[in-house]
Amino acid sequence: MKKFADLKIDKEAINMGAEPHYRCQRCKDKGFYFEGDIAMACSCQRPAVLDLKREKAGITPHLAKQTFAAFDVSFYSAEKRGGNKLTYRDNAVATVKAAKGFTASVAAGENPDGLLFQGAVGYGKTFLAAACANDLIEKGVAVRFVVVPDFLDLIRDSFNDQSPYRESVLMQEVKTAPVLILDDLGAHNYTDWSVKTIFAILNYRLNYELPTVITTNLEREQLEELLGSRVYSRLLEMCRFFRLENANDIRWEKRIREKRKN
Ligand SMILES: [Zn+2]
Repeated sequence: MKKFADLKIDKEAINMGAEPHYRCQRCKDKGFYFEGDIAMACSCQRPAVLDLKREKAGITPHLAKQTFAAFDVSFYSAEKRGGNKLTYRDNAVATVKAAKGFTASVAAGENPDGLLFQGAVGYGKTFLAAACANDLIEKGVAVRFVVVPDFLDLIRDSFNDQSPYRESVLMQEVKTAPVLILDDLGAHNYTDWSVKTIFAILNYRLNYELPTVITTNLEREQLEELLGSRVYSRLLEMCRFFRLENANDIRWEKRIREKRKN
């Protein structure tokens, strides 16, 4: 009569001869499989591929969560905006619609006008710009998400011989990105050099008709005054302007804070 321990050994012996367990039966976890002589990328690798694309685009794990699906328009007040027929929420809905229209148009190979989102901190403009980036990456479009003050610092640091970066390479990547997101334009110092650098990027993208999404907490007059009429006229030519704002609603602020904690 067999003892319990012997039974266990028999079971292991059987398992050794069996097929190993693969998470993906199609590619046996290799990431590719053959159709005839052609190696095909397996769809099981899609999440990892998207992670890589997001990283290359400058989308941090925090920004990766800021999607159209997660953009909650109920955060915006149903009160009417001063002197306006639309409520703050209607305005947010219209802005999201424009953003979705933009990504759909880019993904269809069209050449839509860019978008410029104005608004104070916390009113969702970076969220919506990140949502555009995430949607485009999902649709297979290469994107570059650049926080303008950080990018200017990076270029300035590249003038140092020890820096691993080269200005020309950094600038070229941003100028030529199929879709460029410039987050927080205006939240930097306004030297001749920084204004010239921003102009060089916008001017290139306008000339080559490359779509650009911009966020700023500056008003139109401030954009013109601080960045100069040359930069401002490029913005007007290449972008449709939208404003995300909200009523001073304490409940809304509380919900935003709660959501940030999670
Ligand atoms: Zn697979």
